Amino acid sequence: MARTYKFQTQARELLDLMVYSVYSNKDIFLRELISNASDALDKLRLESMRNDDLKPLVGAPEIHLSADSKGRTLSVSDNGIGMNEEDLKAFLGTIAKSGSREFVNLLKEAKGSQEQAELIGQFGVGFYSSFMVADRVVVETKKAGEEQAWTWESTGDGTYLLGKGERGEHGTTVTLHLKDVDDESGIRDFTQEWVLREIVGKYSDFVPHPIILPIERQEMAKDEEGNPMEDGEPVTVVKAETLNSMKAIWTRPEKDVTEEEFNDFYKHLTHDFQDPMLRISSKAEGMSEHRMLLFVPTKAPYDLFYREAEHGVDLYIRRVFIMHDCKELLPFYLRFIKGVVDSEDLPLNISREILQQDRHISIIRKNVIRKVLGALKTTLEEDRKKYETFWAQFGPVFKEGLFQDHANNKDLLPLVLFDSTHSATEKTTLAEYIERMKEGQEAIYYLTGKNRQAIESSPHLESFKARGIEVLLLSDAVDELWVPSVHEFQEKPLSSVGKGTVDLGSEEEKKKEEEELKEKQTQFKSLLEFLQKTLDDRVKEVRFSTRLTESPSCLVGETYDMTPQLEQMMKAMGQDVPVAKRILELNPSHPILEHLEKRYQANAEDPDLSDAAELLFGQAVLAEGGQLPDPGEFARRLSKWMLKAMEG
Ligand code: ADP
Ligand code: MG
Repeated sequence: MARTYKFQTQARELLDLMVYSVYSNKDIFLRELISNASDALDKLRLESMRNDDLKPLVGAPEIHLSADSKGRTLSVSDNGIGMNEEDLKAFLGTIAKSGSREFVNLLKEAKGSQEQAELIGQFGVGFYSSFMVADRVVVETKKAGEEQAWTWESTGDGTYLLGKGERGEHGTTVTLHLKDVDDESGIRDFTQEWVLREIVGKYSDFVPHPIILPIERQEMAKDEEGNPMEDGEPVTVVKAETLNSMKAIWTRPEKDVTEEEFNDFYKHLTHDFQDPMLRISSKAEGMSEHRMLLFVPTKAPYDLFYREAEHGVDLYIRRVFIMHDCKELLPFYLRFIKGVVDSEDLPLNISREILQQDRHISIIRKNVIRKVLGALKTTLEEDRKKYETFWAQFGPVFKEGLFQDHANNKDLLPLVLFDSTHSATEKTTLAEYIERMKEGQEAIYYLTGKNRQAIESSPHLESFKARGIEVLLLSDAVDELWVPSVHEFQEKPLSSVGKGTVDLGSEEEKKKEEEELKEKQTQFKSLLEFLQKTLDDRVKEVRFSTRLTESPSCLVGETYDMTPQLEQMMKAMGQDVPVAKRILELNPSHPILEHLEKRYQANAEDPDLSDAAELLFGQAVLAEGGQLPDPGEFARRLSKWMLKAMEG
């Protein structure tokens, strides 16, 4: 007896999107079903290495297609791992993948079919894509090693039927009751041999198991010796034909493979519909024998920042597929790399635990990093434009390496591109920055902030601008994380213009400025003390500096203090951040200071003075893009002063 179950809400939403899909490339449903069948075959083989009972079940792994043009059905069948009742509920009744909620939302919001297509392609909506072309889907399945078979069936209306089934052999058959052919919406006649041939050739050629279709041919009848008879009647013969080439493209010499074949392989692997930006292939012998065929996509996938999403490269051992997204082969900051690594040395029954300590794996990993960084370096040197497009897509991810992979920092840093005050449009490398450094300039200066515009208008830059000293503008969230741990490049220290004291200019200039500052500091001593007292709970020091040329005030930190952006990020992540008091720097040549001094000398109790202290502090916070602890209070003070100014 079959029972009716409801799909999980998210699964239902995704199903609805499929049933009413405007996405015109409906052909991909077959790619998805074949890829599930192929996965199921791999799973059975891997499982049989752990479970001896399953060993005899691993026969010849095959995927069979069968089409009935009169009954308008198409089925995809495998002799893989199969599913039991629980599996069917968990795998076909819900979306278990992380990030799927976001995906469904993205898909709902996607504008037009092109954008939907991109998303569907990247996520590989999988099994549910069947409902783009079928109005009823039946799954007959039996889990390897179990007695009971199961039948699952749905019309995509929000519920499915699940009950005991009759299937004899382990594995799964998915049968689609096809919708009517409709060229306009992309529903072709998927029962036609040539249509199936074309789709398999396009999307599934590299699947490592045979995809078999019975082909009917009219042949002349043959005589007893097997020779066609001259005047015999034609007879129908059925031959099983393998539609895919299954070739392991990475084992062929690179020069024998066309660009198009490489690109097709990449698309097969990633479900991306664009060609990759970069290809990296290499063969290693000696300590560890392995090959790699890696790609940098043209566009960052939407789930690059979901921790649990599947990224990275597939591991093969002697041409046999072992696993997707083998994390041990690739550091996390290179997770945008796609492709295949094939090892000659590892045992086929390798487990996750062994992977983590295996000597070969660590050799391969080092080699992968070396090759990827090498290819990026070459691109930077030889094709700057291409490198910039790479950087725009993957720069923020790549920069994670600067704090995750200290050992490789010296190879990573030269590959980092920066916005800089040097140019409004062009990016710069650190080496290029150093070439432009002024005589006597000792450090590489930078400032972090929310975005380029906010950083550029920050008061901290004023004296650097006035002196024509270049400052790097760091506005990716990740910059806050790596900058504190990278201290120098080519022996030049990296120095934040928002921290510490500034000492620009020649020795003579510095000396003169210092003296002037000292003098002012003495002259305004009691005013500074008053300001310090008023703001004591928020600033650790009030001092004059040469950092400012136009603004009256700014906030700075000590060299190893957190930046306000980092503080905000930590708070947003729910972490306790100790309140760090910063230093309020004042511009001694600003007229406001002169006025304040006069007022203070006339009457040290003047109530306007504490207001002024608050406003100086508040505007310093705002000018660097920070958040005021009490914006309402600040606004009230400001209005009061505006009124005063207007009333004269
Ligand atoms: P994905 O393949 O990305 O996990 P799908 O929607 O394509 O997502 O499939 C969902 C799940 O259903 C699979 O992960 C698998 O566990 C199960 N499944 C689908 N098809 C088969 C099959 N032919 N044999 C065994 N399990 C299958
Ligand atoms: Mg799938």
